[in-house]
Amino acid sequence: MDDCLFCKIVRGEIPAKKIYEDEHTFAFEDIQPKAPTHVLVIPKKHIRGLKEAEADDAEMIGRLNLVAARIGRERGIEDGYRTVLNVGPKSGQSVFHIHLHLLGGRDLSWPPG
Ligand code: 5GP
Ligand code: ZN
Repeated sequence: MDDCLFCKIVRGEIPAKKIYEDEHTFAFEDIQPKAPTHVLVIPKKHIRGLKEAEADDAEMIGRLNLVAARIGRERGIEDGYRTVLNVGPKSGQSVFHIHLHLLGGRDLSWPPG
C-alpha cells in the first residue's frame, strides 16, 4: 500500500525505532508510548485490521502474538503485560494496517477504558 503509514515504516521510508524483524513481521516502538514498554507488532503484508483478516491470515495473527511474547521475555516484563488489537474507529484504531500493541512495564488496570 503506497500511502499506508505502517507500510512506509516497513519499507524504511519513515523512520522508526525497530525492535524486531523477520520475513513476515516487524516490530517498533510506539511514537507516543502509553507504558514503559509500548511496542507495535505488525505483519509486513498490508491488512487493514482484524475484521478484514481472512482464514489465510491465521498464521500471521499467531505470529504477531508470538513476537510480542518474545519481546516481553527480552524486556523482562513477564510479570504482566498486555497485547491489544484495537478494531475499528470506536475502539481507537487510528492506523488501518493491523498492529498488535504490546504494553507493559507498569501496573495495567482492568478493564481497559
Ligand atoms: P491505534 O490507535 O490505531 O490502535 O494505534 C496506532 C498507534 O500508532 C498509536 O499508539 C500511535 O501512537 C502509533 N503511531 C502513529 N503514528 C506513528 C508513527 O509515525 N510512528 C510510530 N512509531 N508510531 C506511530
Ligand atoms: Zn500498510
